[in-house]
Amino acid sequence: SSSPGVFESATPMMRQYLEKKAQVPDAVLFFRLGDFYEMFYEDAIAASEVLGIALTSRSKAGEERVPMCGFPHHAARGYVAKMIAQGHKVAICDQVEVQGSGSKAMFTREITRVVTPGMVLDDEILEARADHFLAAVVPHASGFGLALLDASTGEFRAAQVSDRRILVEELGRAGPREVILPAKSGLLDAVRASCPSALAQELEDPTVFDPRRAEEGLRRQLGTAALEGFGLGGLPGATQAAGAALAYLSQTQRASSASHIDRIQVYYPEGHLVLDEATRSNLELTRTIQGGRTKGSLLGLLDRTATAMGGRTLARWIGYPLLDLREIGRRHDSVEELSTRGVLRGELSGTLREVGDLERLLGRLSLGAGTARDCRLMGSSLSRLPALRKLLADCRSELLADLGPALEGLDDLAADLDRALEEDLPATTREGGMFRKGWDAELDELLDLSASGKEFLARLEAREREQTGIGSLKVRYNRVFGYFLEITKANLHLVPAHYARKQTTVNSERFTTEELQGYEEKVLTAEERRIERESKLFEELRGRILERAAAIKAAAGAIAVGDALLSLARVAAELGYVRPEVDEGDVLEIVEGRHPVVERALSGGEAFVPNDVLLDRSRNQVVVITGPNMAGKSTVLRQTALIALLAQAGSFVPASRARVGLVDRIFCRVGASDDLARGQSTFMVEMVETAAILHGATARSLVVLDEIGRGTSTFDGLSIAWAVAEHLHDRVGARTLFATHYHELVELARERERVQNATIAVTEQEGRVIFLRKLVAGGASRSYGIEVARLAGIPSEVLARAREILQNLEKNELDPEGRAVFAGKGRGRKNPPANQLGLFEPPPRPQIPAEVAGILEKLRSLDPDGITPRDALAILAELKARA
Ligand code: ADP
Repeated sequence: SSSPGVFESATPMMRQYLEKKAQVPDAVLFFRLGDFYEMFYEDAIAASEVLGIALTSRSKAGEERVPMCGFPHHAARGYVAKMIAQGHKVAICDQVEVQGSGSKAMFTREITRVVTPGMVLDDEILEARADHFLAAVVPHASGFGLALLDASTGEFRAAQVSDRRILVEELGRAGPREVILPAKSGLLDAVRASCPSALAQELEDPTVFDPRRAEEGLRRQLGTAALEGFGLGGLPGATQAAGAALAYLSQTQRASSASHIDRIQVYYPEGHLVLDEATRSNLELTRTIQGGRTKGSLLGLLDRTATAMGGRTLARWIGYPLLDLREIGRRHDSVEELSTRGVLRGELSGTLREVGDLERLLGRLSLGAGTARDCRLMGSSLSRLPALRKLLADCRSELLADLGPALEGLDDLAADLDRALEEDLPATTREGGMFRKGWDAELDELLDLSASGKEFLARLEAREREQTGIGSLKVRYNRVFGYFLEITKANLHLVPAHYARKQTTVNSERFTTEELQGYEEKVLTAEERRIERESKLFEELRGRILERAAAIKAAAGAIAVGDALLSLARVAAELGYVRPEVDEGDVLEIVEGRHPVVERALSGGEAFVPNDVLLDRSRNQVVVITGPNMAGKSTVLRQTALIALLAQAGSFVPASRARVGLVDRIFCRVGASDDLARGQSTFMVEMVETAAILHGATARSLVVLDEIGRGTSTFDGLSIAWAVAEHLHDRVGARTLFATHYHELVELARERERVQNATIAVTEQEGRVIFLRKLVAGGASRSYGIEVARLAGIPSEVLARAREILQNLEKNELDPEGRAVFAGKGRGRKNPPANQLGLFEPPPRPQIPAEVAGILEKLRSLDPDGITPRDALAILAELKARA
């Protein structure tokens, strides 16, 4: 045709394509054509790049060339996964039915599913032990609404927060794969910063975030007239966000009921111990900083769960430690019971290992993506519930004993599923072969028909051989011609008149008879009817499971909790953890504490040296830990934070005794090293993170600062570190551990009431520095750097000179008037007289000759552990040249 415009000139197929594509402009459309999925135009260009498949084009003479690419339909799973991993959305358009006939026959097509990073169901893409959230965020008059929905499991939560900072922290903590926002939300940048790996987008479609539709949608989905029952009353922001998440779900999972999403949990982010992004990452709670792997993280150590459900729950416990003493105590009770009952532990985990991921199975089935294999796994999993109930009935601790009832009421379903389904099941639900004999009379009849058919054919063959006298006559079947009688050329003269010719081959001719044709119709329709019957039965079976969705979810939840407790108990028993005391007090006291991960990572017979830490708000509010690099400062800092966190998550802790006065927030900051990935100056990052503490910490918080101020020049860094420590002492009152290589901070203890010094003991043996790893009271030796220089072989005259300079510096810096200020604690004054100049009041720096200052600066900047002997020699030569 010569009409202009792609649309009009397009073939009917292309017209269909363009029409579907218009429905999902922001997704890459996988368009089914026969046995292939094809992509066109920009989609083809993007897909060929991401998927590494060849880009071709199709055109008719004189028309524009249309870029296209494609792949066989059975490869779709892997290709969807690749597109999603690259942050694309994929819409899948399938052939639904044939319309018309002959050469005009054409398929109608429907978009059956839109897969987005937050809306995937495929096990190949899903991480088994992690929540896979879609987040919906709305700004609201009263703050912000936030909803988190994991479509694969039905986990659904909503919160309303008043403060933008809390919203951003909470998003970071939940780690969604995809975030949707209303147009012009003004939040896109903040969301992208807190969830860098998520696909974050503002939706142009206003219906998704429509507040009235939100309420309707929620009522419909949750099957309730009043949302108050879920605690959503009076939370319009949370309601709107939750409604948006559901609306988005139904836009992407077209034809499904999503009956596994039958409840929503309203929660208060600040009802849990608050952990912001930087803290979670610095403490390596669920991922290591380097490599981002679970192995080597706290969770990697603690997760000995038998089921993926338990694994996800444990991850949530680590991410959301509790503030409620009773709840914490209940978890400790159960961990205690299980940790002391090894046999029970073994039996429970043996049974749990036979339970599949009920939440995701249910999710897949209710979103229409489940197969008979899923049903079978559901059945075999449910069949373990009686055994689990029995084991739990034997438990004395409340939390475990309370799990039992949730596992009731599903035994009949388990039995039905077992009775219904074959052991070996096909991967799809379209080929039949799923149901056992005896499950359905009609199906059995159809099966009999094809079975008895075989007998019938054998009889027919024998009879025809006899009647025609052709010994080699065979009844055969192929897909194109159906059933036929095959007769070799040599015997053609014996063929009776009532045989009708079907086909000629090189050596034989193929015939049919009326009888055979009649049979063929019966059998082939029986086959079709069998498949039809099976798919109907499958739908029924699916329906039966979905009817019990609520009970299955409850059972799954109970199993997950039991499994998480079991995992904590195993760790406690195997690694020698103890039950911490958690109370309302303000003390954090750890006796012989260990770093859970570092102690496991030590190799070569090196033993972990346990350390005591005492923090409280009366005398030991801020503990400044000085000492050389690699002494073990970071380790003791982090282990303290981890022990507090573990205690409130319900776990036992690596120590011989621990008392944790309830902590409301933990802040852990590490002075910036190179953080180029974020594209901000490292120091800026460090300061932004530090600012968040100064605003967010309360007197109940635990603040752990490692080398804050390192990202800038010495004096800047020192001044900032000092001021931050002062502020935490004077204003915030948070329990604080402060590790620093700025020796000057030792002086803070003199000026401030509740500041104590500690250092990590170091000794020298045969010319080598030995780290004792032991935290002791007092400041580090100031001349440590010079000691290292000595060990490195710096000539004695340089060392002597350096000592002299150091002494001068100390005098000048600390006491311009020449007074002795080195009286130790208790001997000297706690607070200097008002007229004495403190270190950080002007004036002025001591007068040092420029060349000495240069040498000193060089010495200060040295990191003895970080240089090779060769570098050390080169530096030495340089210093000597200057001296
Ligand atoms: P710093 O922060 O002082 O530079 P780290 O805390 O990073 O030092 O510790 C350096 C290394 O020393 C750790 O990687 C660990 O292997 C080891 N280490 C730290 N603390 C201990 C300890 N208490 N017992 C045994 N080894 C330890």
